[in-house]
Amino acid sequence: MISPSAAIDISVDNHVHSRLCHHAMGEMEEYVLAGLGAGLKKIIFLEHFEIEIKYFESTWLREDEFAGYHREGCRLSEKYQGKIEIGTGVEVGVNPDRLPETIDFLIKFKWDRIGLSYHYLDTGDGHVNMVSRRPENIALMEKIGVEKVAAAYFTGLQKALAIIPADVVCHLDAVLRHCPSFSFSQEHFEKVHEILMVMGAKDIALEVNTSGFVLRNEPFPAVRILKQAQKMGVGLLAGSDAHRPEDVGRYFDRLPLLLD
Ligand SMILES: [Zn+2]
Ligand SMILES: [Zn+2]
Repeated sequence: MISPSAAIDISVDNHVHSRLCHHAMGEMEEYVLAGLGAGLKKIIFLEHFEIEIKYFESTWLREDEFAGYHREGCRLSEKYQGKIEIGTGVEVGVNPDRLPETIDFLIKFKWDRIGLSYHYLDTGDGHVNMVSRRPENIALMEKIGVEKVAAAYFTGLQKALAIIPADVVCHLDAVLRHCPSFSFSQEHFEKVHEILMVMGAKDIALEVNTSGFVLRNEPFPAVRILKQAQKMGVGLLAGSDAHRPEDVGRYFDRLPLLLD
């Protein structure tokens, strides 16, 4: 049973996917039913948008798929009115070289939430997925140099934060999460601090992504960063990043203890 917490609202799952993004399982309605089953009062779909990414597979919706996504979000919202609220949002993947085009896309729809994530880094010869566990991505990041990748991640994210009308930053420290040779240094924490300052000034929230519990027994970002965000007055939003209906609201019961 969900108990109320002053630090974070765990009755809302602010980040779920569906099979529409080509790497999650289950229909949108199955996620709604899972949210109802978990006793949530609201779930927000945050489907993947990426722009001009050169990668061997597509882990995002094509532009022409977003209209159907919105229609289904509206239909479900009406169908489950009074039982559970449903939001239709987008997880915008940063492409630092395509920010004006990203905004052109965003203004075509009315979003309940715009999340900002940075997944794909341009290597000059295609893109590498910075959050992937695939050996070929890890090998490529090691070849580029993990410090170089991390620096590019922060620079690109800052560039995007300056102009994309985001409501929330997703899984802030998940970059390079599967690279064994990488861990956050003092310099990285300083970058995070700069980013949190911008977020605070622009009233952009920080996601508490509970998928991290599976990997490292701590959300993305780490508790240390979450506490800092709290101190700086940055709002926190819980998100499961569910790619399977059964993961909706996962580990939310752990959050109040972690953050109060
Ligand atoms: Zn995904
Ligand atoms: Zn993501």
